[in-house]
Amino acid sequence: MTEATWTGKRVTVAGLGVSGIPAARVLRGLGAHVTVVNDGDDERSRAQAAELEALGVTVRLGDGATLPEGTELVVTAPGWKPDKPLFLAAAEAGVEIWGDVELAWRLRGPDAAPWLAVTGTNGKTTTVRMLASILEAAGLRTAAVGNIGVSLLDAVLGDEKYDVLAVELSSYQLHWAPSLRAHSAAVLNLAPDHLDWHGSMAAYAADKGRVYEGNQVACVYNVQDPATEDLVREADVEEGCRAIGFTLGPPAPSQLGVVDGILVDRAFVANRQKNAQELASVSDVNPPAPHNIANALAAAALARAYGVEPAAVRDGLRAFRPDAHRIEHVADVAGVAYVDDSKATNTHAAEASLAAYDPIVWIAGGLAKGATFDELVRKSAKRLRAAVLIGADRALIREALARHAPEVPVVDLDRTDTGAMSAAVREAARLARPGDTVLMAPACASMDMFTNYNKRGEAFADAVRELAPERD
Ligand code: ADP
Repeated sequence: MTEATWTGKRVTVAGLGVSGIPAARVLRGLGAHVTVVNDGDDERSRAQAAELEALGVTVRLGDGATLPEGTELVVTAPGWKPDKPLFLAAAEAGVEIWGDVELAWRLRGPDAAPWLAVTGTNGKTTTVRMLASILEAAGLRTAAVGNIGVSLLDAVLGDEKYDVLAVELSSYQLHWAPSLRAHSAAVLNLAPDHLDWHGSMAAYAADKGRVYEGNQVACVYNVQDPATEDLVREADVEEGCRAIGFTLGPPAPSQLGVVDGILVDRAFVANRQKNAQELASVSDVNPPAPHNIANALAAAALARAYGVEPAAVRDGLRAFRPDAHRIEHVADVAGVAYVDDSKATNTHAAEASLAAYDPIVWIAGGLAKGATFDELVRKSAKRLRAAVLIGADRALIREALARHAPEVPVVDLDRTDTGAMSAAVREAARLARPGDTVLMAPACASMDMFTNYNKRGEAFADAVRELAPERD
């Protein structure tokens, strides 16, 4: 899209924030008439507005609902719900709505780096980081960008030249990215999440499935999660684009999988009916928990689709270090391992980490966001030594434990203050035996007790450190 296309174009940016502010700046820089509309009108937004106004951007605070007259395009923050009056007005006026990802996609240069895209309910950040690590090990200029906290706009418009980008995309971003066409993409898994935003599971799945539209080389799906394969089937892809599965079992042709502790590729090899290529050992994956091996296989599939050699897959996986609060081993105290999976903010994520340890003293609870816990407890019951519950919605978990795991001792701390984590860790230490894992995988959001999941994880780690001198 040339600069001339933008000169004088009336663009409304919905939302001051991490995506809105850079979008407004860039569009203004291209010569567009930019108006930012924002629901809030607090001190912070007034300061942000002043900075944008100095650049010639119009900002309307306290009214995110009304479509400014003459708007030719709306660029929205991804989190804004599709049923907002602003969008209804835009639709009525026949005005296109783009999200931050769509804007970056449209503004990328003619010889821009191709995108390897990753979405799914859980595991996106981990997989994208693994993928970037593999691409780096292959000597490629790359970055992990997108929903991971690194702006796609910066990546496509910055001075740094990339060969290929590892892009994390949320379901919201995909909803607002109608023309995105990735080189290859993966949907890691699909479980109910953000349904209040999307309106239904079908709408959520359809938005995730958008990531496969127009793929050129490979649509990577999870063999163990057939809903992801259904999305591949429904996608309209480029001629010759292949469906590539990943599985924790032995791979069929056109799949990556695991055989005798080895990650193997039976997709990007000559004569895949007979041959398979060794990529790495399960022990090269950090940590080698089952769901994380699935993440590694998805990352490997995308890298192989891009033409990366097997040795780089192994080296990249070995070099990968997980982000904090994602199944992070904090310490061993008196023969008990303490693991922080504060990022397990929904039941699907918690189920994955509970499947990775045995026996477990489980610290759980927080804000349930409308979730139910029966399935999670039923699947994990036999691994539980005990459970320690904290947070606003702990009763929901206590009731599920009473229904499906009545023999598991439960300590209900009946607390939602920040100090409750320290008490929970002390209780867990009392209940654990040498060889056990104390796993903080709350299956809930953190905001009832903490600013965010990072703070919750830090509180856990602090509490474990307080424990250490007593127990050693
Ligand atoms: P996302 O970016 O999708 O939120 P992360 O990589 O940050 O995913 O991981 C979030 C949490 O989800 C982790 O702490 C872990 O509990 C869980 N998780 C990671 N990978 C998977 C997976 N493949 N399947 C299920 N749960 C997973």
